[in-house]
Amino acid sequence: MRISIQHLTKIFPSRNRGGKAVHAVEDMNIEIPSGGLVGLLGPSGCGKSTTLFMLSGLESPSSGKILFDDQDVTTLAAEKRGVGLVFQNYALYPHMTVQQNIRFPLDNMRIKKEEGNARALDAARLVQIEDLMARKPSELSGGQQQRVAIARALVKMPNVLLLDEPLSNLDARLRLQTREEIKRIQRTTGITTVFVTHDQEEAMSICDTMVVMKLGIVQQVGAPQDIYDDPNNLFVANFLGTPPINIFKGKIAGGKVYIGEEAIGEAPWETPYDDQDVFVGIRPEGFIYDANGAFTLNVDHIEVMGRDKSVVASHECSTKPIVRSIIDSDIVLPASNQLKFNVKPNKLFLFSAATEERVKYPANVFKGKIEGGKIYIGEEAVADTQLEDREVYIGICPDGFVYDENGALTLQVNSIEEGEGSKTLAAAHTNSEKPGVKCIIGGAAELPAELGALKFNIKPNKLSLYDAETRERLSNGRE
Ligand code: ATP
Repeated sequence: MRISIQHLTKIFPSRNRGGKAVHAVEDMNIEIPSGGLVGLLGPSGCGKSTTLFMLSGLESPSSGKILFDDQDVTTLAAEKRGVGLVFQNYALYPHMTVQQNIRFPLDNMRIKKEEGNARALDAARLVQIEDLMARKPSELSGGQQQRVAIARALVKMPNVLLLDEPLSNLDARLRLQTREEIKRIQRTTGITTVFVTHDQEEAMSICDTMVVMKLGIVQQVGAPQDIYDDPNNLFVANFLGTPPINIFKGKIAGGKVYIGEEAIGEAPWETPYDDQDVFVGIRPEGFIYDANGAFTLNVDHIEVMGRDKSVVASHECSTKPIVRSIIDSDIVLPASNQLKFNVKPNKLFLFSAATEERVKYPANVFKGKIEGGKIYIGEEAVADTQLEDREVYIGICPDGFVYDENGALTLQVNSIEEGEGSKTLAAAHTNSEKPGVKCIIGGAAELPAELGALKFNIKPNKLSLYDAETRERLSNGRE
């Protein structure tokens, strides 16, 4: 069953007069593919449970729509939606046996006892508690009770399984085990599953897609590793990862990223963001010890943790009391209260100090000009603008190109690499500020067999303009 969440919003009115209404969920838009396992992740109060309750039908949205496949279920009663719900407190009936607990929803549906017993046994087998059918809940461990609750949700053969913090009452070892169980059950049954948790490690290990929320607003949707590697903003970067990312107050100047007086890395593209205050995020695994490294940390102590060791340090620009650097335990460190490191570029993230949004640089930069309302790269007009004539830099994101034999911009394409669902083209252009131009286009795009001069159109929202002299970003008349 595919789930489509469209502009879903829930506003709880204020309880007292003159108080503020709570925007528990705001304009949520998510597509969950059939058989997907999606985790709603975020701190307490961010709207996870409210979203789940709206999916189940226990809570009705203030506006927006929920579709199961093509059926609009927004106002459909909970019992007609075919959802199985599992809560944090398993709410088993203490006086009933495991079998009676699992069978209970079927009894309510007046399904015959023999069929009910057979289906209860199937569900119990799925969660591997078929040997416990005669026991009462008080005779079960927490993990076993949780499995009974899951079997009870599965016995109705739901289209959608909704799990609200199902592991939070279990001890650490059982949590790990039950995580695996949930993944196995979900894979075996193929039921579309939405899982609520505030535990990022749990979400990252269980889900194939994660939805990170803050104050009712979706911050980022994607595969757990993709979100970890490419966070949209400071909140998301901070929320994912144990130990958490280190955050420093920094600056971009002269094409370099500064923390305090030290230039700790190259800014991805030197020109447009000069003198900008930023937050610099460095993942703990992003430090390489080097006696001549660019970045100095004041070491407090070193913790050895099996394969790795953790340098626990501080830095005057850090926004957190502790800076943690995780390095291989084989690396020999001198006994010193100051150590130097280099920073891996792919573990370093920059965020605007003003908006906390990720500062993303256009990977491709061209020298060009604006003339008569058109943006030119060389002789070719690639887009329209309302800006006055001037010299500019034109930034184009790798996914900003669309192949078109009559397209506006000609690139010399040297090679094509087929990826999953996309093609990566290595190209060149005489006006490019970098030696290569990188384009990522949809896998379905048909390209001519012969490489060489190919034409592309540019997606307007993937193009950014910078004044050639001041190197400040320009609004190109659309924004
Ligand atoms: P937790 O992890 O603590 O369960 P959550 O992310 O699931 O949090 P929700 O329970 O969805 O968050 O709550 C989102 C916001 O809506 C919170 O600010 C909460 O106080 C508010 N809220 C939830 N239910 C109601 C209600 N019935 N009336 C008023 N406000 C509510």
